[in-house]
Amino acid sequence: ATADIAVTGLAVMGRNLARNLARHGHVVGLHNRTKARTDELVAQFGSEGTFVAADSLADLVASLKRPRKVIIMVKAGAGTDAVIDELADLLEEGDIVVDGGNAHYADTRRREAALRERGLHFVGTGVSGGEEGALNGPSIMPGGTREAYSTLGPILESIAAVVDGTPCCVHVGADGAGHFVKMVHNGIEYADMQLIAEAYDLMRSLLGRTPAELAEVFQGWNEGDLESFLIEITAEVLATPDPRTGSGALVDVVLDQAEQKGTGRWTVQIALDLGTPVSGIAEAVFARSLSGHAEQRRAAAGVLPGPAGSVTVGEEFVEDVRRALYASKVVAYAQGFDMIRAGAAEYGWDIDLGAMATIWRGGCIIRARFLDRIREAYEKTPDLTSLLVDPYFASAVSEAQEAWRRVVATAAAAGVPAPGFASALAYYDGLRRDRLPASLVQGLRDLFGAHTYKRIDAEGTFHVDWSGDKSEQDAS
Ligand code: NDP
Repeated sequence: ATADIAVTGLAVMGRNLARNLARHGHVVGLHNRTKARTDELVAQFGSEGTFVAADSLADLVASLKRPRKVIIMVKAGAGTDAVIDELADLLEEGDIVVDGGNAHYADTRRREAALRERGLHFVGTGVSGGEEGALNGPSIMPGGTREAYSTLGPILESIAAVVDGTPCCVHVGADGAGHFVKMVHNGIEYADMQLIAEAYDLMRSLLGRTPAELAEVFQGWNEGDLESFLIEITAEVLATPDPRTGSGALVDVVLDQAEQKGTGRWTVQIALDLGTPVSGIAEAVFARSLSGHAEQRRAAAGVLPGPAGSVTVGEEFVEDVRRALYASKVVAYAQGFDMIRAGAAEYGWDIDLGAMATIWRGGCIIRARFLDRIREAYEKTPDLTSLLVDPYFASAVSEAQEAWRRVVATAAAAGVPAPGFASALAYYDGLRRDRLPASLVQGLRDLFGAHTYKRIDAEGTFHVDWSGDKSEQDAS
């Protein structure tokens, strides 16, 4: 046995991870259900390192040094279960099975428990950065036991992106923690993209700028606080003409119906279960759904009027939008980090939130300069109640708030939908409010359903005799 680690599933992600491993000096076992992919990898990239090609999973397992480490990079879902089942029969106590696919963390918890019973380690691992990241350094979010990480971690850290000398890979927590964090990462990515799209739409609709002109605006923004991969590629997409004609803008010929593979939806579904308001992510998922309802949109376009008057804005609107985008983005990240904390509490994971910000600084889609500020915030105060109350972010958001309010008001007045900006602002105002109208909601619940209420000035639970003399009864 000569291989240090193996990869099974050699489509784009698996192939690139295998090459990345080989380039870092690891001897890599290779396997794919359809052998042609394995052969192709060896033929094209065999010179990049040392590969051991296997025809079957049994051969793959035989090629590995112990404890054996096998990374599964197959289509998420039933395919992953099939491969795990076959592998588990071939492996021995102490061996490590890594699932680098986009698995649901609940599946990962189930698989981890099943393999643990058999004396095997199962490491559900979030991998972000797409195919480019897999090859040149992704952000890696491994779950599973500390024991498994002690053997596997150094290999994963060697192939991860590196920022300021620190690899973008850290042990996240037990069983499904890695895939949970990857899910929230993707949810934040949804929110971030929606906010960027709203910023573009507002400036285009109200200032009449062309996509090429807006590309320059985003390029400029990428020099400051907003510096991030998503802002950078926004400039690139907006600057690109229609490839068919070489003129116009690509963004004007792309069908305006956003698709989704499901991780954003999972984030919102789980957030509902955990009772964590991730309104920024939810608005982003729903905005994509709305965009897909083409027939409804066509029907409404002919019937529903917009505002009567027109809204004019000046040059300063660009800076307002930049500030609104930054503040809304801080809210989206604050909500995402709250959700990770809620998940950790629910499942008993010991997740270091600052470390999550650290490993998202490179390799992944949401890599951004301001993750450094998030890392600092959690390093200073590990049990920070909300990112928004960290002194740095509190002052950044308060500096932005007047502009943020102008943008949301302008969007409403002009009839340009900005659900991400508006809901982020509503969250901010809800969070800072001394008293919320939830008191009225509680009153209503008590009236129609005797659901009781608590008082601000006394301990206990109370109920009003609504159909009688309206006296208060102690319902404790
Ligand atoms: P795909 O999701 O397209 O999956 C194709 C691979 O899965 C092929 O190797 C295929 O083998 C194998 N496969 C499918 N079903 C089975 C099965 N029943 N038994 C054995 N093998 C099977 O590949 P990607 O490389 O795009 O993604 C791999 C994983 O990584 C997925 O879980 C994906 O969600 C995740 N991921 C993808 C990212 C991306 O940017 N693409 C980013 C991060 C994670 P065969 O060649 O024989 O058909």
